[in-house]
Amino acid sequence: MIDWSNLPFGYMPTNANVRCTYQNGTWGKIEIHTEETVTLHMAATCLHYGQECFEGLKAYRGVDNSIRLFRWEDNAKRMSKSAQRIGMPEIPMNIFKEALFTLIAHNKEFIPPYGTGATMYIRPLMIGTEGKLGLNASTEYMFIMFCSPVGPYFKDGCKPVKVIIERDSDRAAPLGTGNVKVGGNYAAAVNATLRAHQLGYSSALYLDPKEKKYIDECGPANFFAIKNNTYVTPQSTSILESITNMSLITLAANMGMKVEKRQIPLDELGSFEEAGQCGTAAVITPICEIYDPLLHISHTYGFPNTIGEKSKLLYDTLVGIQFGEKEDTEQWITIIH
Ligand SMILES: *Cc1c(COP(=O)(O)O)cnc(C)c1O
Repeated sequence: MIDWSNLPFGYMPTNANVRCTYQNGTWGKIEIHTEETVTLHMAATCLHYGQECFEGLKAYRGVDNSIRLFRWEDNAKRMSKSAQRIGMPEIPMNIFKEALFTLIAHNKEFIPPYGTGATMYIRPLMIGTEGKLGLNASTEYMFIMFCSPVGPYFKDGCKPVKVIIERDSDRAAPLGTGNVKVGGNYAAAVNATLRAHQLGYSSALYLDPKEKKYIDECGPANFFAIKNNTYVTPQSTSILESITNMSLITLAANMGMKVEKRQIPLDELGSFEEAGQCGTAAVITPICEIYDPLLHISHTYGFPNTIGEKSKLLYDTLVGIQFGEKEDTEQWITIIH
């Protein structure tokens, strides 16, 4: 028996994963696999030249017991954009869809029951598989989709976290790959994340890589802040366009808040009433403190252990739509039968 209410955010084996290979310029048939491993040529381009991109989305068990997906077409489109940025072929929408629906059909019992707070995380990825030594794009690719039931990404759920501004490294360059979801960005951020954890912070907060004057995003999640009934989130060429953030922008506007997507200078941090990180995994995780180790300044938000009023409203609305407790006014949900 799975203890649904105490699941970590981690990998758990399920019944099956799905795979599709690209050869001679075309995608093949979707295959269902039960093994968890992949056999690769040791010279595969994903192992040497970083030809790897991925996605992350969730299946939710609704209040009416339905299986629900949230804006999955946006994940499919973003995966194609990421792939193309690093010289890989697009994934046609129909292949992404067939893979996703097949994966869910084979793993229904791993979608956590409604009310446990747990969800099924779905991880699509694409890798260059051709064995070649010269620096060049692969001509062969593998698209894989697997899933795992997960608990909240941050152990304490909606509990506010502390983050530290990263001053010693960048996760992406101004015109690099920060705006696509590729493994290389995470490799560039691993050290800073480890340092942040060692110092007792939940993540690193990156600055714009060119001027180091503006907020970019947290390692795996976008940054937002709230003041004067305004939802503010960074505009930058080096951050990933989060589907969660795009959704919060819509929800904030629907609630009558102003929305500003613009550069956020470091010296504005002191003026915010609430701050948070957002993403599929993080949902909304409130930030109670941002520490800048260069300037030795701490900015604090709200009261310890409580989510701010506006963040809470956004959280409840977003999660309510995802679990079918609130009306899906934007047609974001696909119900799977
Ligand atoms: C995946 C990801 C996010 C969150 O995007 P969602 O579409 O909301 O899940 C934010 N930042 C980075 C760097 C990411 O990789």
